[in-house]
Amino acid sequence: MDTDKNRNGYIEMIPWAPEVNSDNCRGCGACLEVCQNGVFVMNEVEGKMKAAHPENCLVMCVKCTEICPNQAIFFLDKEGSIKLALQLRRVDCAP
Ligand code: SF4
Ligand code: SF4
Repeated sequence: MDTDKNRNGYIEMIPWAPEVNSDNCRGCGACLEVCQNGVFVMNEVEGKMKAAHPENCLVMCVKCTEICPNQAIFFLDKEGSIKLALQLRRVDCAP
């Protein structure tokens, strides 16, 4: 059995994508700097950050939410995604 392949398949099943509340965003760029996966793009006209490539987000990473000084970044159903990840981990570890 190809365990690595299965793990990658599970990760693709977990919804994990940030969204930016534009009302709270002040365009400081901190999230753009901290994210190493190219998820964010600055809308220079509006001076607001956009999560333009959410598919690049790393499951379980929360660096951008922690660094945003305005609590503008959030995950839809974060608790549900964590629960699913734990369930899949149990399946993966089952004998
Ligand atoms: S860190 Fe927060 S306030 Fe700064 S650009 Fe990103 S979303 Fe906007
Ligand atoms: S959670 Fe991590 S990988 Fe995803 S956008 Fe934020 S910093 Fe980038």
